[in-house]
Order: sequence, then C-alpha cells, then structure tokens
Amino acid sequence: MNNYKLKIAFITGISGQDGAYLSRLLLKKGYKVIGITRNNHSENMQKLKSLCIDEFIIMEECDLLDISSVIALINKYKPDEIYNLAAQSSVGLSFKQPIGTISFNIVSVLNLLEAIRLIKPDIRFYQASSSEMFGKVTNLPVSIDTPMHPLSPYAISKASAHWTVVNYRESYGIYACNGVLFNHESFLRSTGFFVKKVIYETVRNKNNPYWNLKVGNIDIKRDFGYSPYYVEAMWLMLQSQNPDDFIICSGKSITLRSIIEHVFKKLDVPMNKLIIDYELLRPTDIDDIYGDNRPAKTKLGWEYNLSFYEVLDSLIQEEIEFLDKK
Ligand code: NAP
Repeated sequence: MNNYKLKIAFITGISGQDGAYLSRLLLKKGYKVIGITRNNHSENMQKLKSLCIDEFIIMEECDLLDISSVIALINKYKPDEIYNLAAQSSVGLSFKQPIGTISFNIVSVLNLLEAIRLIKPDIRFYQASSSEMFGKVTNLPVSIDTPMHPLSPYAISKASAHWTVVNYRESYGIYACNGVLFNHESFLRSTGFFVKKVIYETVRNKNNPYWNLKVGNIDIKRDFGYSPYYVEAMWLMLQSQNPDDFIICSGKSITLRSIIEHVFKKLDVPMNKLIIDYELLRPTDIDDIYGDNRPAKTKLGWEYNLSFYEVLDSLIQEEIEFLDKK
C-alpha cells in the first residue's frame, strides 16, 4: 500500500500577487493547495486564472477575524503549512483606514496562531512581515536585528504581527517564521502600487496627449525585487530544521525617480509628462531603505541576482504583450 500523503498548505490572501505565485510554486512541488479568501467571487480568481492554476486550487471563504471559522477550516483539512499573506497591504490606504488596517493585520495573525496552538501545534506557519516596520532607519543595510521605528499604520500593524509570531515561537515552540520582505513587484501587482502604476499607465497612454503620470514623493529610495523569486524564500523558510525570521530583499535601493526615467526612456515618453501631485504625498515616508539578504542566501540557500532594471524590462515587456493579446 502507498502511504505517501500529499502535503497540504493553506494560503491566506491567495487572490493577491504573492498568493498567485506561491500557489503555482506549491502546486509544482506537489502540494494540495487550499486558498483562503474573504470572498470567493470570480474577480478574486483573476490572478490565479492568469497563471492557469485556478482549477487546481480548493478555495474556501473565511473571515480571519472570526476564530471559530479559522478553527473549523484547520479541523477540516489539517494542513501541514500555513502561509499567511492576507492583509490590508497598502501603506497609503493605511493612513486613510488606520483602524481597519491595524485591527485586521494584527487580529487575523493572532487568530491563526491561537488556532494552531489549540488544535494542531505542529503546523508550520509563515507570516508575511514587511520592511516597512523598520521605517526611520539610521543604519543601512537593514538586518533582522535593526530596531523598528514604524512610520505608518500599516507598518505598526506588521510590527505587532511580527512580534506576535516571535512570541508564539518562543512561548509555545510553534514553528512560526517571519519573512521580512522588501518591496517586490510583478505583472500581477495591483495597479495602485507604484511600479505597476508607472508601467501600466505609461504603456497604455504613451501616445495620449491628454495624459500625465501623477506621482507623490519620488525622491525616496526603495529596495525592489521580483515576486516569483521572493515566494521561493517563503517556502524555503518552512523547510528549514529550525524556525527563524529572515530579510528577503535585493540588497540595493533605487529612487522612484530612476524607475520613472527608465520606463519613460524605454517607451520613448518625455519627462515633462510627469506631474507631482501633492495629494499623493504621505504624512510620513521612509527616505531610503535596503536590506541585507546574506542570511537568507547562506542559511536558506535562497538565490537572487536580478538587478531591478532587469525586472523593470521584463515587466514592461509583459505589459506590452498582455495588451497586444487583447
Ligand atoms: P495583495 O496583492 O494586496 O494581496 C493581499 C490579499 O489579502 C488580498 O488579495 C486579499 O485577498 C487579502 N485581504 C484580507 N484582508 C484584507 C483587507 N482587510 N484588505 C485588503 N486585502 C485583504 O498583497 P501582496 O503584494 O500579495 O502581499 C502579500 C503579503 O505580503 C501582504 O500581507 C503584504 O502586506 C505583505 N508584503 C508585501 C510586500 C510587497 O512588496 N508586495 C512587501 C512586504 C510585505 P481576499 O480579498 O481574497 O481575501
């Protein structure tokens, strides 16, 4: 008799950018993937559909703020691993919806960890932590020991969730890890996020005389990477001997202005199409941030060597091909 049992993984926030790429990776590795969403409508399947994997995923609706729903789902599937990607993930929106962002992004994590502690403590848990937690940094590159000084409600929520994960690991011995990811992009990124917005709008409007690209503060610097490679680090974290937290980043930062310059040059758009919109400025912002990815490379065997200009070029290409197919 064959006793081989498929590994079962829950992915919360499966309808988002990382959820789609992580699902594809886990399916390729032979996992049974259970996708957790707030609402199982067709709009939420779009990113999975575009990777042609929607039919291979079992979708479940769950309100992560309701611990009884979380417990029922864990009892139903008895997963081996949970990747918690669900969050209100926009820094900008978190200034407009601070209470919703902070409540959801913290309590959902607590509910998942409590459910694991109470009913299946051998589940391995991945938390989507964020470089935004470090905020006002004085020493670069950021390492996992860099002090946190969050500068937005989103960052506060992620910092609190991060320490909740550490606490459950240290207090109860749960295999729980924080993946502290720096900004990462892909074709599947929502259009509200900077890099996608710049490419999406410019590709569609480059010949439109009535269009301008409206942006906020573009003199800040960020460490950007490529989502399909970053999700590999999530999986690697849950396969290690011992649970730990890791910084996942490219290791370099560039100004948002350089991104626009590169995209405009590539698409032959003059820089006078750029407009600074003061409505888009944030109350506080991080000036410059980049991280140290050496522990992830040496301890997890994670590989990443793309320059951000290579990522930009392939994103521009994908956007053009997508439009041509329509
Ligand atoms: P995303 O595209 O915004 O997806 C997040 C998903 O969370 C959504 O699709 C949504 O799925 C779910 N969600 C649950 N509650 C929500 C709420 N109250 N408001 C909005 N969405 C909610 O995010 P992502 O880029 O894939 O990132 C995945 C995770 O990594 C997030 O936790 C994010 O904060 C974190 N992170 C991302 C980056 C980055 O650069 N992308 C960097 C660091 C950390 P349903 O509607 O199906 O429930």
